Amino acid sequence: MNIVLFNRDLRIFDHQPLGEAAKMGEILPLYILEPSEWEEDTHSIRHFQFVVESLEELSEQIENLGGKLFFSINKLEEVLEKLLEAYESINIFVHRNSFLLEKILEWSEHNQQRVFIYGPDFGSVTAKLFKQLFQEHVKEPLVEKPAKIYIPKETPSVLFTDIKKIKKFRVKGKRIRFGQQGGESRATETLDSFLEERFANYVGNQHKPLPSSFSSSRLSAYISWGNISVRTVFQKTTEALETCDSTEERHQLETFLSKLIARVKSSSMIPENNESVELSKIKNGWNEEWFERWLEGRTGFPIIDAAMRSLDKTGWLNFTLREMVTSFITNTLLMDGQKPGTALAQLYLDYEPALHSFYFRHISGLTAKVKIINPLRVGKQIDPEGAFIRRYISELENIPIEYIHEPWLYPGFYQLGYPTPMIDVVKANKSARQKFKSLTQETKPARKNTEGETEQLSFDL
Ligand SMILES: Cc1cc2nc3c(=O)[nH]c(=O)nc-3n(C[C@H](O)[C@H](O)[C@H](O)COP(=O)(O)OP(=O)(O)OC[C@H]3O[C@@H](n4cnc5c(N)ncnc54)[C@H](O)[C@@H]3O)c2cc1C
Repeated sequence: MNIVLFNRDLRIFDHQPLGEAAKMGEILPLYILEPSEWEEDTHSIRHFQFVVESLEELSEQIENLGGKLFFSINKLEEVLEKLLEAYESINIFVHRNSFLLEKILEWSEHNQQRVFIYGPDFGSVTAKLFKQLFQEHVKEPLVEKPAKIYIPKETPSVLFTDIKKIKKFRVKGKRIRFGQQGGESRATETLDSFLEERFANYVGNQHKPLPSSFSSSRLSAYISWGNISVRTVFQKTTEALETCDSTEERHQLETFLSKLIARVKSSSMIPENNESVELSKIKNGWNEEWFERWLEGRTGFPIIDAAMRSLDKTGWLNFTLREMVTSFITNTLLMDGQKPGTALAQLYLDYEPALHSFYFRHISGLTAKVKIINPLRVGKQIDPEGAFIRRYISELENIPIEYIHEPWLYPGFYQLGYPTPMIDVVKANKSARQKFKSLTQETKPARKNTEGETEQLSFDL
């Protein structure tokens, strides 16, 4: 039996494992809800909610093609065991980015069953080779959805088709109230609306908190959970590029494409094992109160607090704000990054393990020259009128504009109910800079300055 195992590829269009398996006759489209995946510290209810929405649509799409999407809530190995018992031999069709890939490979090797893995492997290739392989990959024709799906008449009792049972599964964390909803059609609509209209101010608005929430593509969650393939986004954008009226429009879409390439490149990088042995020398001890104030948006720095409160509500932040909240906790407050990194992973709806870890380490000074950001200076640049701050910090809704970034200077500050700043950020950054500098001097030859490297990846488009 040919089993198509869905995981972080919740779509039917440009889905190579599904397309290839369907050519071979009967298939069993399957989503295994493996409890250990959802018990990971980094996974939360908001991710699960997005996955459930995606599965609802996927299930409907497969039914429209004459098939059914099967589910199982069980350990992967146990489900595969039962499938093997029922069908005597199984072939597993899966995408390379499946969270369960390692377990699948281990099980199938042990049980001598075949696994067909799809999707490019860019791990440990040189920059030049990456460029070539990436271009080859995105230029391949998109895989059409199968014309018809044939499923077996008999299936083992470990499988079921009622999604209600999946919905009852409990996952930790806080539900999201204003986030994006999962599903392939929503992903397509989001891409279409970006290419039709929203891209016009992509570059100019990319750092600005509120405008970027409209004029950046907002595709990250859809790409991370596989509601749309990078190849589809790339090809549709390249088509749109050909119809651009001006160089200005071309510039917007070319910059967008370079970000997409940066995504693929940075998420395929194998992390260097340079754990924070040297960085731990300059870190402050763990301070739970500081951590909680940062996480709950009560640091007393309006731009940081607005970012954390907005992330809590929507599950999204632009790149600049992600850098800023990370830099604040790991570089300004000099706290160990492990727990903050996990907390952010739970909050980002688009959480992609490799990408998140890459940038988190990058900003914290683990893989590049450290980036220490002054939230007052950058806050004034990206949100000069304080519109973003007012939107998310009700205590500062009516404060005069001249105090929006430094409310503690406002004569009526103590009536606002907004916290005083937890530290003197200028002093803290100065001291952190000196500490990082002393480290760099100690270990100069080993550390290279790759700051901004991923942002600057450029390709001939
Ligand atoms: C600390 C940190 C953690 C991050 N964690 C994640 C994560 O878990 N998942 C995630 O999808 N993105 C992550 N990013 C990258 C980036 O911030 C988001 O992809 C982007 O904000 C998503 O918004 P968008 O889809 O509107 O992006 P757009 O600007 O419209 O970009 C289009 C797509 O390109 C990719 N992208 C955009 N900017 C970058 C970049 N600088 N580097 C690599 N890829 C990029 C994303 O897939 C995005 O969907 C992280 C960045 C930082 C600094």
